[in-house]
Amino acid sequence: MKKEDKTQAQQLQESLSYKKRNYYERADKAERDAIFAYAEGYKTFLDAAKTEREACDYAEAEARKNGFTPYCLGDALKAGDKKYLINRGKSIMLFRVGTKDPETDGFRIIASHIDAPRIDIKQNPLYEEGGMSLLKTHYYGGIKKYQWTAIPLALHGVAVLRDGTVKKVCVGESADDPVFYINDLLPHLGADQMAKTAGKVIEGEQLNVLVGGLPYPDASVENRIKLNVLNILHEKYGMCEEDFLSAELSAVPAFAARDVGFDRALVGAYGHDDRVCAYPALTALLQNESEHTVIVVLADKEEIGSEGTTGMQCRLFEDLMEEIASALKANVRKVRAASKCLSSDVTAAFDPAFSEVYERANAAFLSCGTCMNKFTGARGKSGSSDASAEFVGEVRRMFEKEGVVWQTAELGKVDAGGGGTVAKFIANLNIDTVDLGVPVISMHAPYELISKADLYSNYKAFLAFMK
Ligand code: MN
Ligand code: MN
Repeated sequence: MKKEDKTQAQQLQESLSYKKRNYYERADKAERDAIFAYAEGYKTFLDAAKTEREACDYAEAEARKNGFTPYCLGDALKAGDKKYLINRGKSIMLFRVGTKDPETDGFRIIASHIDAPRIDIKQNPLYEEGGMSLLKTHYYGGIKKYQWTAIPLALHGVAVLRDGTVKKVCVGESADDPVFYINDLLPHLGADQMAKTAGKVIEGEQLNVLVGGLPYPDASVENRIKLNVLNILHEKYGMCEEDFLSAELSAVPAFAARDVGFDRALVGAYGHDDRVCAYPALTALLQNESEHTVIVVLADKEEIGSEGTTGMQCRLFEDLMEEIASALKANVRKVRAASKCLSSDVTAAFDPAFSEVYERANAAFLSCGTCMNKFTGARGKSGSSDASAEFVGEVRRMFEKEGVVWQTAELGKVDAGGGGTVAKFIANLNIDTVDLGVPVISMHAPYELISKADLYSNYKAFLAFMK
């Protein structure tokens, strides 16, 4: 309909009303191609980086390729410097020093996380029973435990041997690797199990990872299947059983990232939460210039509360801000007050199969762009950093100027549940912070789903924020 053919009310409705729109619908051919091309790099990253350690290694390698060099606390800095600081191999902070005055312009910070829900191996895990050798586990993050049985798993991590040697472990990712497995009960004998609530269908101590079935060829000892596994670990990594005590091994889904749907609009993968924000943050920083000083934080331990030395609550982030400020002869308190942060984490995408937990007007819809959550929390916004209207307005104008397709949402219905992100830890430092990230279907499942349009919109949002 041409504008002059519309009634006055139609024109008024158009100019006054707000309506979410699908990014794929709004994108022209060139932009759609860009959306699809960007997702190819993302899938490569997903398959190369299933744990925080691997994501950290990936980020470091990409940073080096793009002229970033290692930074140590206390180093001198000047405008144009491109640096990164790795924290214990599990989190990384990358930054580029801009030309703007840090005391008045502050830093532009994007924080996302690179840990994901998974099945961690216990410290004394290995045993043999029923013709199988298995590893005891303790799950990491908020999972539906029943989803992790009867799927192919890979083992990732490190073992620190008695002499301090660190051995990297990654088995189950190559096509010719074996995979690992958590058993489930056959439905024929599952009458009692199926009557349980979903939280109890599979319990924590039943999440045991199958790692062997072949007895060591010498009948003079007991537990020969376990012994055979130990022997393989010894040959491969120089490990003995005691080395599990100082190991960090995790079972993660062995699936590769794949396009989903006939039209390939979506991507299925393990660990979109929160690599779907970490990857755009990283690429936006590495491949672009800006007058602002920009810091990208890829944090660990978000899924268990951001605690400890590698989580967002660790003082290292404050120390880094302080060091950058002092190297630039700026007062860090003024720098923090002037800084702005996007806490970039995923949100829940509306799912028609579970529409009862969403409130449609304030739900994130797939392919409608990256999603801002002004606040998170649960039971009356509790535990949330609620961004100010002024800051939301400022970010809104940044996006508007650069033509970013984006939306806002709450995680779900007011009393349906809730969640949290790293936002509050940064906001607590007197830094304006708001959550922005990609809507995800089946969050925290072994295979999650996102839209390529939302991934690309997130990247464009970060570019606009850094500009
Ligand atoms: Mn997350
Ligand atoms: Mn999560």
